Formats: sequence, C-alpha cells, structure tokens
Amino acid sequence: MLTRRLFGGLLCATTLFAQRALERLRGTLKKSARLAAPGGREIILEGDTETSAVLRDSRLLGLELEAVGEWADAGRFRVEPVHERGLFVVRNGKPLVITYWCEVCSIRTYSPGKCMCCQEETQLDLRDPAARDTDPAPPNATK
Ligand SMILES: [Zn+2]
Repeated sequence: MLTRRLFGGLLCATTLFAQRALERLRGTLKKSARLAAPGGREIILEGDTETSAVLRDSRLLGLELEAVGEWADAGRFRVEPVHERGLFVVRNGKPLVITYWCEVCSIRTYSPGKCMCCQEETQLDLRDPAARDTDPAPPNATK
C-alpha cells in the first residue's frame, strides 16, 4: 500500500512537470522583441527583465534566434527565465548561448549593458553551449 502511494506521488510530480510543455521556436529577431517565424508570422516574445533586455539588443536584430518557452496566447511566446537559458542565436543551424563579456574585468553576464565592475559597455559574445565558460561569474566573485 505504501509503495503504491509513493508511486502515485511520483507519477503526480511527473505529470505536473510534463504539463509545462516547453516549445522551441525559431525565427528572425525584429524590432520590439518580435520574432518573424518562417512563413512570415510575427510573434511577440516576452521574458524576465534580463531576457527582455537581450530581446531589445540591436546587435541581435536580423539574426536567427531560438526561443525556448511556452505560449502565453496565440501571438505571444513567453521565454524561459534567463538562468534556464531560453534564448539562443542560431548560426549554421547550431544554437549558441547569448552572453555579454567585459574584456577588462573578464566578467560574463547574460544581459546587455554596462559591466558591473568597470562600467564599460559589455561586448556581445555568442558561445558554444558545450564550452565550459558560458556561465556568468557567481555573484560573490564580484566586489
Ligand atoms: Zn568590466
């Protein structure tokens, strides 16, 4: 009886997890965080603060992006939180992690803007997901 209950609990957790059916969407990034999907359909991409900043980075305009997330409604797609890596640039069919790099401080972030250390503008740095150093520096590594 106990094993049956345990199994039931596990099954329930699995079902809950499966309900968050993540989808992958590819298309060309346009202004105002719009993704032009193949066929000409435009989808509005949403996300957390960091993701929204990436979506509004003019350096990414016109590039092919892959967004991982779920549909908010028929025309809006909610991208996974930035730490879940929901956004990639697709180059030669391969998704690359979007990161920002400060050469002066060797600090990597997931969001565009000024370096948290030296206040210089960070450089867009697309990285192979297989590379080890795609993660931003842990918060305690900075001053
Ligand atoms: Zn810096």
